Amino acid sequence: MPAMAGTMVVAVPAASGDPSELIAMARRLGNGNAALVGGAGDGAGADEVHVVGGAALEVPDVRAWALALASVCAALQPSLVLFGDDAFDRAVASYLAQRIGGGVVTGVTALRDDGRRLIAERAVLSGSGVETCAIRPGVLPVVCMARGGARASAVDAPVADAPTTRHVVDQQAAATVVDERPSSGPGLRRARTVRAGGAGVGGPEGMAALRALAETLGAGTAASRGAIVNGWATAAEKVGLTGVSVTPELYLAVGISGASQHMAGCRRARVLVAVNSDRGAPIFRYARYGIVADSRAVLDALRARLTGVAS
Ligand SMILES: Cc1cc2nc3c(=O)[nH]c(=O)nc-3n(C[C@H](O)[C@H](O)[C@H](O)COP(=O)(O)OP(=O)(O)OC[C@H]3O[C@@H](n4cnc5c(N)ncnc54)[C@H](O)[C@@H]3O)c2cc1C
Repeated sequence: MPAMAGTMVVAVPAASGDPSELIAMARRLGNGNAALVGGAGDGAGADEVHVVGGAALEVPDVRAWALALASVCAALQPSLVLFGDDAFDRAVASYLAQRIGGGVVTGVTALRDDGRRLIAERAVLSGSGVETCAIRPGVLPVVCMARGGARASAVDAPVADAPTTRHVVDQQAAATVVDERPSSGPGLRRARTVRAGGAGVGGPEGMAALRALAETLGAGTAASRGAIVNGWATAAEKVGLTGVSVTPELYLAVGISGASQHMAGCRRARVLVAVNSDRGAPIFRYARYGIVADSRAVLDALRARLTGVAS
């Protein structure tokens, strides 16, 4: 599946119906490719079509659809996700946004980009008022567009000749995501302080040093996939899109690059402190405090300092 940056229009067969208005709207917004994702519609006007299907998705199952779409989002990295505004659309959009750390706005009647942020309008007070929502940069907007209004007026937007790619994502994608969910997440989910290690802790000793520090502080230990695939941490410790979502007061990320799939699980931490030897690592974009240094040196120094204070 090719990487795209642009708008992902979701057409879930059980809900949205014909997605052509949404595709036209995506093209009018002009923020990159317009990709149709789902199982409904012929893709007319879209730059890319990604069919999501399989037995688990033949019934209107909110969780199955949200998990399948989360894995498509991880692959496509869209800057905007557009849904219709039926009840099923809204349910899937909310679950998806929670899963990927995005922000959901439903019942939207108009959407525009003011050059800095995406601005959504929606009707309130039984249609007698309009609420304006500005979507913070850095948060993936998941927007449910109501019928009519901006959606209908978008149909005269420039149209692509024909979808350039057509990919099939079968239910295996959803099944993989489900299987990766940890069974022992709740403790980590509630932790006020979390120490997380990635591939940059350098080995089992680095992870052991992180665990020792966490024990000293009574904190939870977490990991990115980089540490897990190396066998230094368990799947139950994984934070991210296919792991636990945490909301601690303090999240210390050591040797973690800051891939979006990891950040989806920790971006709601109140304070994020990152330790990474590469000053260009993406994690520093999310960190309140960043330390450009070797992970082991920082872990040893912290442990020595904290043990000294405690004794
Ligand atoms: C569908 C999908 C779902 C995914 N879900 C998740 C998920 O839920 N959670 C998750 O974590 N990942 C997930 N991933 C994987 C994710 O994309 C990244 O590959 C992964 O998070 C990278 O882990 P890492 O940052 O530990 O490793 P790396 O990307 O290898 O980064 C290691 C970092 O450590 C730094 N470093 C190296 N040596 C040192 C040192 N001595 N001192 C300090 N820093 C050092 C490097 O500069 C680098 O930034 C998913 C991927 C996909 C496609």
